[in-house]
Amino acid sequence: MRTAVGTTAIRHGQMFDGTGSPPVRDAVVVCVDGKITYAGPSTGAPITPPDATVIDARGGTILPGLIEAHFHATYFNVEALEDLDIKYPVEYVTLLAAVNAKLALECGYTAARSGGSLFNVDVWLKKAIESDLIPGPRMAASGREICGVGGLMDWNPDYRKIGMDGLVLLVNGPDEARAAVRKLVKDGIEWVKTYPTGDAASPDINDHHTLCMTFEEMHAVVATAHNHGLKVTGHCRATDGIKNALKAGYDAVEHATFIDDEGLELLLKRDVPVVPALYFEHASIVRGPEFGLSQRVIDGHQETLDGGAESARRILKAGGRLGMGGDYGFGWNPHGDYARELTFFVNYVGFTPSEVLKCATKTGAEILGRAHEIGTLAAGKLADVLIVDGDVLADISLLERRDRFIAVMQGGIVKSGQLGSSF
Ligand SMILES: [Zn+2]
Repeated sequence: MRTAVGTTAIRHGQMFDGTGSPPVRDAVVVCVDGKITYAGPSTGAPITPPDATVIDARGGTILPGLIEAHFHATYFNVEALEDLDIKYPVEYVTLLAAVNAKLALECGYTAARSGGSLFNVDVWLKKAIESDLIPGPRMAASGREICGVGGLMDWNPDYRKIGMDGLVLLVNGPDEARAAVRKLVKDGIEWVKTYPTGDAASPDINDHHTLCMTFEEMHAVVATAHNHGLKVTGHCRATDGIKNALKAGYDAVEHATFIDDEGLELLLKRDVPVVPALYFEHASIVRGPEFGLSQRVIDGHQETLDGGAESARRILKAGGRLGMGGDYGFGWNPHGDYARELTFFVNYVGFTPSEVLKCATKTGAEILGRAHEIGTLAAGKLADVLIVDGDVLADISLLERRDRFIAVMQGGIVKSGQLGSSF
């Protein structure tokens, strides 16, 4: 991805640097050739050359670009689960994914970790973004997801004879699990996304207390993935599914909804990050009825919301790491609403704005495996910066307001916001 040429100085704003430290009231961020050379109080700022570009933050907030830790580029605001794999051909879904990536960047998300995609779309989406062909977040790709036969994602009945190969590789036993990971290795992914457990969305046979993969399958996935330098994560709601994932050596856990004491201990022992994705549950409860979700499904989402919120609070309190991401891409939880996750964590789950922002920046970068480059505002990091008109720490919902974004920057280049767009 291109970076800016020359010097840019961002002035007249409070800076939240992503580490969770209190904001610096009158801060300056200086970027040279796309990298931050200074981020701190204006009093200690270096003198910038006369030809430097100066950006006025207008007394607002300067913070690291946000990071979506559970991004589904190919989920195109579907209204039913089965639409995810058969409604449109992959050609059209690829175009929709490019639109979703552009939207994510416009929403202040300068990086995203994929939580799975149709075919290998996210791998090539990442390549197109890195090559500056299309705008979007810096990405870590996952490609197709892995699930046990008969599990949550195996929803097409056999009489339809269409399989699930587009979105999910279905496995029976460790040999097939290994084979699935080897396919993904060739596809060029970075994160293997699996389905150790079911979900409230599928109450008949794969609800949120059901296991969808065996420990042996999960262990085979991890051993094969780690051998090739890939990381593994999984959709984990049921208590035993979470523990299986942690014992099998997973590098991250999605949701960790019903984590128990033993699970928490395992999690903390290896400092495994969790992405709760709770706003999705809330949106499913509140907006589900207009999309025909049954009362049973909605009750299940209420249970997973209550369990997930409690788990998120416990993990944070115990010193664990949480990423912010939200399973956006359903009709009731559409792309573009990403920052609602952050507001929800403040207003409903009870985190402070500073805690939530650290999860959405520094921890997000750690999950992507790019903490040395992005996620905080510090000398040496890429200048991925979001400048918001207003005090984000006093009102985190400002991050839902794209009209309040002065600039969304990647590598020192203004990509979106009031100051214009390079695309
Ligand atoms: Zn997901």
